[in-house]
Amino acid sequence: MSEPTAPKSLAPDTPVPDKPAPGTNPERPAGVRPGSGWPEDPATPDTPVAANAGHVRALAADADSLAELAARESVCRACPRLVRWREHVAVSKRRSFQADTYWGRPLPSWGDDRPSILILGLAPAAHGGNRTGRMFTGDRSGDFLFASLWRCGLATQPTSTAAGDGERLISVRLTAVVRCAPPENKPLPVERDTCAPWLARELKFLGSDLRVIVCLGHYAWMALWPQLASLGIQVPRPRPAFGHAVEVNVPVSETVGTTSITVLGSYHPSQQNTFTGRVTESMLDAVFGRARALAS
Ligand code: SF4
Repeated sequence: MSEPTAPKSLAPDTPVPDKPAPGTNPERPAGVRPGSGWPEDPATPDTPVAANAGHVRALAADADSLAELAARESVCRACPRLVRWREHVAVSKRRSFQADTYWGRPLPSWGDDRPSILILGLAPAAHGGNRTGRMFTGDRSGDFLFASLWRCGLATQPTSTAAGDGERLISVRLTAVVRCAPPENKPLPVERDTCAPWLARELKFLGSDLRVIVCLGHYAWMALWPQLASLGIQVPRPRPAFGHAVEVNVPVSETVGTTSITVLGSYHPSQQNTFTGRVTESMLDAVFGRARALAS
């Protein structure tokens, strides 16, 4: 998953193409075709496609199951800049992945359908999730994350390398504030807001079982509070400051179906953070160990 730097504006020289990736057009997207046999693909050729923010709101609101929500998320085309970017990356590829077929679509949430722990990141990485089609899978931060989940008894394997590799999460679900890989790992505020109804709907589906939300990085932390408020939850004011292992207990009403949710902060296991020692294996294990204890 992406490095959680504060997304404000895009550097002027960021090479976002202003038209579909070469060899592609909106009728023939560059990403994997829904229903073409990709492991864990939740969509079919009949899955409705959101083409703008209004469509996202409508399609999220009337998704009648978590599976249908994931399917609709995975074919969304509501953010033109992000669609161009994810498909551009899927066609141009990193040299070391030239032989790979890139997913090139939004990443739906992944993991347990009735989780007690939700892990919230920023957005997929261009050559990680955008390539493999699974949240946090295929990049160094994901390697760090899955190893920690496994050590804490929250994953069946220490690695997640590709969709269909047998990895399974235990009472855990992975999601992100923004579901498409953004240029420079920086979604624009309008893209964050356009994507928000997908997460809001997911939180409603998960309400009765959810006990803990782990925010990986400051961006996820800041994006979560408005989402909880939109569910009618009284969020703390002023908003609690983000920090590693910061823990906030949020009482919730029967609207959500549980009595309280604990929000845990964690430094993002980005390469920058792990290389510099800002976050270590033991630090991440402490957060997920705490999440597991709270959830049980
Ligand atoms: S970022 Fe979200 S709303 Fe925008 S195209 Fe991707 S899935 Fe759709």
